[in-house]
Amino acid sequence: MSKQDLFDAIEAERERLRSLSTAIWETPEVAFQETESAERLQAALREEGFEVEAGIGDIDTAFVARYGDDDPVVGTMGEFDALPGLSQKATAEREPISEGEPGHGCGHNLFGVGSLGGAIALKRAIERGDVTGSVVFFGTPAEESGGGKIYMVRDGAFDDVDAVVSWHPGWYNAPGKGSCLAVDAFEFAFEGESSHAAGSPESGRSALDAVQLLNTGVEFMREHVPDAARIHYVIHEGGDAPNVVPPYANVEYLVRAPEREQVEQIAAWVQDIAEGAALMTQTDLDATKISGMYGVVPNYALGDAILDNMEQADFPLSDDQEAFAADLRETFDAETALAQLPEDTRAEAREEAVFTRPIEATDEGTTGPYSTDSGDVSWNVPLGRFTAATWPVGTPLHSWQAVAAGKDLGTAGMEFAAKTIAGTMYDLLEDEELLAQARAEFEDRTADREYEVALPEDADPYELINR
Ligand SMILES: [Zn+2]
Repeated sequence: MSKQDLFDAIEAERERLRSLSTAIWETPEVAFQETESAERLQAALREEGFEVEAGIGDIDTAFVARYGDDDPVVGTMGEFDALPGLSQKATAEREPISEGEPGHGCGHNLFGVGSLGGAIALKRAIERGDVTGSVVFFGTPAEESGGGKIYMVRDGAFDDVDAVVSWHPGWYNAPGKGSCLAVDAFEFAFEGESSHAAGSPESGRSALDAVQLLNTGVEFMREHVPDAARIHYVIHEGGDAPNVVPPYANVEYLVRAPEREQVEQIAAWVQDIAEGAALMTQTDLDATKISGMYGVVPNYALGDAILDNMEQADFPLSDDQEAFAADLRETFDAETALAQLPEDTRAEAREEAVFTRPIEATDEGTTGPYSTDSGDVSWNVPLGRFTAATWPVGTPLHSWQAVAAGKDLGTAGMEFAAKTIAGTMYDLLEDEELLAQARAEFEDRTADREYEVALPEDADPYELINR
């Protein structure tokens, strides 16, 4: 068995994987509603002999598909939710298929199927007896809104897996070695008394005043939190008419910081300010924690294994795909995005429509100003992450260009991702030393830091979408 056999298995499935990804692209479903997309992925896995269990973590579209009974157990994750309002044809100009409808602006059609391709190739190697172990595909819904993986973690879905290798669509090929911000989400609702704002203001107590005082208090607090913290809010309800003292108002907050303890300290301060605002305005406060996530624990051992496999995997970009990428690249300015790359690779990337040469991690030692539900996974199992070039150089996430690229062009990077996942998972089963290193690094990075799911007690994922 050589690595090439593993890659050949993926190439042999090229048309099947592409048509699966295209079918999901053509039926974009937003968070928690990804019924058809989940079923398509599950059907492909069942057909391949995986045992599928759905409804994980109280989410209908979350599933775990497993092949094998032996140790070690390696896994990969596949997302498949779309974004609202991003409907777009696979053209190099802005042209919705259906205005206002969802679209795959984060490439999750490619994400799910790329990981599935990797899982299937590894399963066949296990079946042939080339390597001993088991492979698990985690079908992880509601990434864009809702943090589906956290509920799967809470349900114990990742408890008996030894390492996980995952990826995300992007515009270059590199392992991820960075972390990101932990986050808590809250809603602060105030209740006051309505009255005629001109005729009898003395009888009214304004809930909107409380929201404004809370926000003002937080703006003054902002100076005194760690630099890397991020705090943002939107007012959902602030009253109906200016001549009525608003009896009800609410504001939603996100509090982010590198460490979970920092998030909790800042969030407690915001809570104090909210209570102060209620006192000042003689209104009643109802504070609700909505959600909470951890930052990512990086794993350099897995990152290095990923890069090693990227360097062995072929990137099957056709001339037509490259030409389309060049057209699409004309529609946005890639310069700002190029600054994400190390200086010595920028010139090279600038010349390409799709940047196919794998590079070293661009985020080693950094904490990115974003949050992901992969963070909670990474606190429970060594997690290797990477980005694969499914889009033209510099393509912004959540853009119409990302949707346009995701139908056909992106399937080249998707296949490359499938090979990288299969190869890295294969190495983890075959090379005891690599798995031991990944686990030792995980133990080291999480030593003396307890993981306890940061969701509010009894949190119901579906309440999130109905609120
Ligand atoms: Zn995404």
